[in-house]
Amino acid sequence: MSIKENIEQVQIKIDEACKRSGRDPKDVTLICVSKTKPVEMLMEAYDAGKRAFGENKVQEMCGKIEVMPDDIQWHMIGHLQTNKIKYIVGKTALIHSVDSVHLAEAIEKESAKAGCITNVLIEINAAGEESKSGTSDPEVNKELIRAVSKLEHLSLRGLMTIAPYTEDPESNREYFKMVHDLLYKEMRDYFPEKPELSMGMTGDYEVAVEEGATLVRVGTGIFGERDYGIKS
Ligand SMILES: *Cc1c(COP(=O)(O)O)cnc(C)c1O
Repeated sequence: MSIKENIEQVQIKIDEACKRSGRDPKDVTLICVSKTKPVEMLMEAYDAGKRAFGENKVQEMCGKIEVMPDDIQWHMIGHLQTNKIKYIVGKTALIHSVDSVHLAEAIEKESAKAGCITNVLIEINAAGEESKSGTSDPEVNKELIRAVSKLEHLSLRGLMTIAPYTEDPESNREYFKMVHDLLYKEMRDYFPEKPELSMGMTGDYEVAVEEGATLVRVGTGIFGERDYGIKS
């Protein structure tokens, strides 16, 4: 199938998940996760109407921003090193991966310097996996939410989570619920009227939409398997 057909298939499944859960499909944005993929493939998605792209490496994202149309929203979804922040502040629509006060303060500093406000999500490690950023400790996460909300050049838009890799998407439902409830039941006042929940990848985005995701991050399901150039 072509990239355009893949996007159509994913969009149909998002629409169906919305229908099942009584949601409006307009409230769910499909982010095309284009990391490792060449610009030609991103342009196929662009020509199919997509304007939201997700990258996880600063250098790769900046290279693509330079050569691609200006009306794209670039989402930084990968772990960020503080010394790279200056390259994306002012260029990224949303940073999904704020996982510490230290990182938030560094984004604050660079945003103030650039004279802009940076939209951010806080990354919640819902399943407490050691291989992933952030923590599952609710008290630490609440403290992080409070701290970020105080920073003048950051706009806290919502929460993000990367659920465990699984063959059974149902097993991730509890993690999506946990993140949803942290925002809506415990920390509602810290978020805007229409907060973002960045949840769901190729393997589990339908369940994530049923549990309230507003941003789904799909890579493999649109562009195919990634080749990291690892020789066996
Ligand atoms: C790579 C990546 C995705 C996309 O994963 P797929 O399984 O290919 O859809 C989503 N979110 C994050 C944070 C990623 O790094």
